[in-house]
Amino acid sequence: MGGSFKIGRVFGIDVKVHWTFFLLLAFFAYVGYRDSGDPLTALVTAAIIVALFFCVLLHEFGHSLVAQRLGIEVPDITLLPIGGLARLKNLPEKPADEVKIAIAGPLVNVVLAPIFFGLALLLGANLLNPANILEGAGSLGEVLVYLGYINVVLAVFNLIPAFPMDGGRVLRGLLATRLGPVRATDISSGVGQFFAIAFFLVGLLTGNFLLLLIAVFIFFGASGETQMVRQREMMRGLNVSDVMGTKPRTETVTPYHNFGQVLDAVLHGYQEDFPVVNEDGGLAGIITRKEILSAAHSPDRYTSVRDLMKTDVPTISPDADLFTDGYRTLQESGLRALPVVENGELVGMLTVDDVGQASLLRDLRKQQY
Ligand SMILES: [Zn+2]
Repeated sequence: MGGSFKIGRVFGIDVKVHWTFFLLLAFFAYVGYRDSGDPLTALVTAAIIVALFFCVLLHEFGHSLVAQRLGIEVPDITLLPIGGLARLKNLPEKPADEVKIAIAGPLVNVVLAPIFFGLALLLGANLLNPANILEGAGSLGEVLVYLGYINVVLAVFNLIPAFPMDGGRVLRGLLATRLGPVRATDISSGVGQFFAIAFFLVGLLTGNFLLLLIAVFIFFGASGETQMVRQREMMRGLNVSDVMGTKPRTETVTPYHNFGQVLDAVLHGYQEDFPVVNEDGGLAGIITRKEILSAAHSPDRYTSVRDLMKTDVPTISPDADLFTDGYRTLQESGLRALPVVENGELVGMLTVDDVGQASLLRDLRKQQY
């Protein structure tokens, strides 16, 4: 996520903090100082917030370590003011795996809560009297009681079935065993968006800014992931070679063409991006419609393709899985087309449109088999 920086690496997972998190810390430190006039209270208040987010981080590690055990890569965990976000490289394929990963986070808080309460009791604190961090920290015992309650809240709140929150993921996993992934996601997204609207209204009525943020996060998270699951199902079982455009349908250019010549191809054909191929058949780079059109209006018109082509372009193998490799690489590159290369030689292009037509191909295949 943009604006985040790494503070450490544990179990092969980068731990990152979003810059807005420091705004949150500064805000609570300020409130602590304003209400007490004591800089030490400001520090203690900030320290409690850090402890709270440490619990959030452990929650995310709960998800992440189970995901790793199930063979899913977890590149990083980011701490945001509204909570933590563990990024999984892939969605779990099996519904049961999704349930295990989702439940592991709240389970961490279920374990942490009695530990904090127990420590508080050892220090002689009253469990009915948590520290009010906005009015100064109180005793260490009261702070531990407070952290105990925070973990109860984290467990309960995350288990609300508001997809894509943990409870919503559990719901989807359970539905998916009977209804399949697409319908399960549709239903849990619908439930999630219902909760998002409810949270939003409550947030407005009570002036709870955090709840408003969470509502927006749930609403858009739900629709984003619904789309992702649809795309995955649409491309299931297809390879890049099933949908890519192959030569001779894919026109290529050489590094020595000039832009006037390439412009002609763009204006008179359907192709928008062109692989640039050396005389020996090796890929030199690609030249996109955007570059071709902008060059056409400038003195670059007569320069050769070599001077303006993109050379650091990711390539993809024809045997690669369409969703996990082809589609992802295409998305991450920000390009509309990727060269498909086999044994160092260009064999075709995978375009955004090819990916879009994967569903047609699937329907056709269903009829054939
Ligand atoms: Zn969680």
